[in-house]
Amino acid sequence: MSIASCLEQVRLRMREAEEKYGRPPGVVKLLAVSKSQLVSAIQEAFTAGQALFGENYIQEALPKMDALKALPLEWHFIGAVQSNKIKKIAEHFDWVDSVDSLDIAKRLNACRRITLPPLNICIEVNLAAEPAKRGIFPNQLKGLITEIIKLPRLCCRGLMVIPPPEKTIKKQREIFAELRQLWEAHQSLATWDVLSMGMSHDFESAIAEGTTLVRIGTAIFGERAKHV
Ligand SMILES: *Cc1c(COP(=O)(O)O)cnc(C)c1O
Repeated sequence: MSIASCLEQVRLRMREAEEKYGRPPGVVKLLAVSKSQLVSAIQEAFTAGQALFGENYIQEALPKMDALKALPLEWHFIGAVQSNKIKKIAEHFDWVDSVDSLDIAKRLNACRRITLPPLNICIEVNLAAEPAKRGIFPNQLKGLITEIIKLPRLCCRGLMVIPPPEKTIKKQREIFAELRQLWEAHQSLATWDVLSMGMSHDFESAIAEGTTLVRIGTAIFGERAKHV
């Protein structure tokens, strides 16, 4: 199936889920995760009306972003933020959806050029407190937000989560509901508007629980070759 028709199908499923779960039509945005995809695939998605793209690896992303710089795309960095890549990330991306420490936030802030708009960020939460995973623990969230909102070159827009893969809809929804509650509990601190949850295998559950941004790769571009 072509990228255009996969995109069409994802959008349709999003609209159907919005309707089914009583969300306003069009309220959920779609971030196309283009890691490991070629420039031509991104171009094809753009031609089919897609403007938001997510990348995980800076070395892979920069040449693609450069090749596509004539297009009005919005780029989200959604991977692990390594210290030695912070400068490049802050220079080239519009968003970093995977900030999980004050140290990273401070360095992104310091590297964001004054000629660019503030860098939009989301804080990545490790909801289940899984030791091997990125993300800050829920009990550290308030302290982190309080500090991040003081950084003038960043705009703190919301929360992101990558939950452990759950097969049942019930389990998926429980975890997403937890993140939504955290998001709501801290909304007055940061006046934020983005709740980034839901991927190819669970985005309908995320829509049921209030996501505002789903991040979808496989369902648009097909299976990825494993990253090396
Ligand atoms: C790869 C990735 C996705 C997309 O995953 P799919 O299962 O291919 O939809 C979403 N979010 C993050 C952070 C990712 O790394």
